[in-house]
Amino acid sequence: MTTPVNLPPEQCPSSLRGRCSRCHAPCHRYGHGGNPLCHSCRAEVESKRQTKPKAA
Ligand SMILES: [Zn+2]
Repeated sequence: MTTPVNLPPEQCPSSLRGRCSRCHAPCHRYGHGGNPLCHSCRAEVESKRQTKPKAA
């Protein structure tokens, strides 16, 4: 079993490439290792997930 790898858009086959659902930048969206968010949006979302915001 290989670990799914989210490729940078320039290395991703066009058939697996799509637009990030957040910033609409091209990213590896479909298939093995695909993600609806680009690398920078994913990093942002994950950092927010780690630091829980306090209830306003
Ligand atoms: Zn994005």
